[in-house]
Amino acid sequence: AAQEKGRNTYQFYSQSMNVALAERLSLESDLRQALERSEFVLYYQPQVDIRRWEVVGVEALIRWQHPVRGMVSPLTFIPLAEEVGLIDQIGQWVLRTACAQQVAWRAYGLSEISIAINLSGVQFQQADLVESIRTIVRETGANPAGLELELTESTAMHDAENAVVVFQQLKAMGFSLSIDDFGTGYSSLAYLKRFPIDTIKIDRAFVKDLASESEQAAIAIAIIAMAHGLKLRVLAEGVETQPQLDILRNQGCDAIQGYFFSHPLPADLVEQLIRDLRAKATHERPAA
Ligand code: C2E
Ligand code: MG
Ligand code: MG
Ligand code: MG
Repeated sequence: AAQEKGRNTYQFYSQSMNVALAERLSLESDLRQALERSEFVLYYQPQVDIRRWEVVGVEALIRWQHPVRGMVSPLTFIPLAEEVGLIDQIGQWVLRTACAQQVAWRAYGLSEISIAINLSGVQFQQADLVESIRTIVRETGANPAGLELELTESTAMHDAENAVVVFQQLKAMGFSLSIDDFGTGYSSLAYLKRFPIDTIKIDRAFVKDLASESEQAAIAIAIIAMAHGLKLRVLAEGVETQPQLDILRNQGCDAIQGYFFSHPLPADLVEQLIRDLRAKATHERPAA
């Protein structure tokens, strides 16, 4: 009986493994064609200065509109793209699209809105990363001063010596730099000081329970103090509620990003939102 059971279990696993493998292969083959089929789109999530309550930037977040599956999360397809060697192409598409968006927004009078772009860990390992970024900036006519490149804390610390060098090159080109998902990796403060970065983004895990007196809240507050000690700007990710915002404001956090203000939006909608907010601010300003 035990043998019987063992065999069934084996069959069960082997069948579900086949299903998972087939599923993965199908997703991979679709991913290979997604670029040429123009199935990717960038959404933009506003970043708001807490004190002035103004949109100072947006983060570009990739979306895959699959013809059958619908929206596929980047949490699913970015790791896959990294594994199967497609991340460079996709990463270049993201950068090119964000650069073109900046140029378009410049013509619309939105040139002071900075655009943050995520770099994947695998992209960051490529020896020609800096050159390929330089080419895209030149070809699109974008201004690196209005672009912020995001690297997660884990990636930056994984090969911190390399990160120092690459960061310095990108900084020299005029980019702003930020450390994403801060608090989830293991940071060496010595390296953090050596990175020529501008902003630390507190991972939303530490923002979630900010309003309850939790360890997570204590970490968020400590990160704000540490960032300011290093003379860095600090932005909180995943802000969803007024109480979270109030605490962050009291702690002197510089900027927020999250559903409380806005979900990530297509370019035209984020543009409209910024215009509406500005019109309202002008309207509310007392006459001189
Ligand atoms: P991330 O860079 O940390 O981006 C923030 C994620 O949090 C986004 O998820 C965003 O939609 C989500 N988010 C924003 N506000 C809130 C909130 O208030 N509550 C909650 N629960 N979530 C919020 P998204 O767009 O699904 O992206 C997930 C991750 O995928 C990103 O995390 C980033 O690591 C990666 N990713 C997205 N776009 C790109 C890209 O163009 N290139 C690369 N390499 N990675 C990307
Ligand atoms: Mg990010
Ligand atoms: Mg993040
Ligand atoms: Mg993240």
